[in-house]
Amino acid sequence: MTTIPGLHHVTAISGAPQPNVDFFTGTLGQKLVKKTVNFDDPGTYHLYYGDAAGSPGTILTFFPFTDAGPGRAGPGMASAYAYAIPTAAFDRLTDDLAAQGLVQAGAELRFGERIVTLRDPDGAPVELIESADAADSHGFHSVTLWERDPERTLRLLSDVFGYQHIGTAQEGTTERHRLIAPGAERGRIIDVIRVAGAQPGRQGAGTIHHVAFRARDDAEQLDWMDRLAHAGHRTTEVKDRQYFNAIYFREPGGVLFEIATDPPGFAIDEPVDQLGQALKLPEQYEAMRGRIERVLPPLRVRS
Ligand code: ZN
Repeated sequence: MTTIPGLHHVTAISGAPQPNVDFFTGTLGQKLVKKTVNFDDPGTYHLYYGDAAGSPGTILTFFPFTDAGPGRAGPGMASAYAYAIPTAAFDRLTDDLAAQGLVQAGAELRFGERIVTLRDPDGAPVELIESADAADSHGFHSVTLWERDPERTLRLLSDVFGYQHIGTAQEGTTERHRLIAPGAERGRIIDVIRVAGAQPGRQGAGTIHHVAFRARDDAEQLDWMDRLAHAGHRTTEVKDRQYFNAIYFREPGGVLFEIATDPPGFAIDEPVDQLGQALKLPEQYEAMRGRIERVLPPLRVRS
């Protein structure tokens, strides 16, 4: 039976785009692999960061709403994502970030792995986890889902998606469940947490909007649509996101889940060595390019 191999991308909301680009490309060394617009709101950018090829499992995307009020994670939201950092690079990278004043505390341990948390320009956590099997610093280690009652979410992930529940840890008032997808792909870990006495969150700058899982192709995505329907989760129809096809649904705890196809990928409308340089628009907005370019704030990307 088909299982989910891991994360495809994570999409978050930020404030102004320039500090976001400077942080993720400059400070963290990720590559801007696509500069496009929000397909539902073409006056706003949609920025994609990842490895040089834009591989699934490395893609972090932002809707930078210049006037977004600050958000706060809470139950029913994804609360953090983590990059897997190779052991050989972990100390140098985290020492560098500490020297820049970006890391407040030293490394902690989570399920036996060292983790350092920094804050992006909107105050959102960016977790860096030392990972013996990471090949570079571009891939996800995991994402954390914050749930009021984890039970039904855990069941969806294990019974439908095929994740294995491998452990539970208590960190102060936080109960953390760890699940892992079979195989060896990037971003194959999901943590589900419950926090005693948690206040409700609010979507806004510095929060995660949705979490996307991988389907290897369109057929597999349709199969997921079917299997989710049988398990009582109604998805949207297939939406053409230019670089992948997407279906969406709310998992039982309220987090917006997406299943996105690996193909066609980010090189469909520009060469791999030029990814992210030009503003790319889907066909339906090409006629409005002049107007869109006047509305979007200018962006400088260091290469
Ligand atoms: Zn998405």
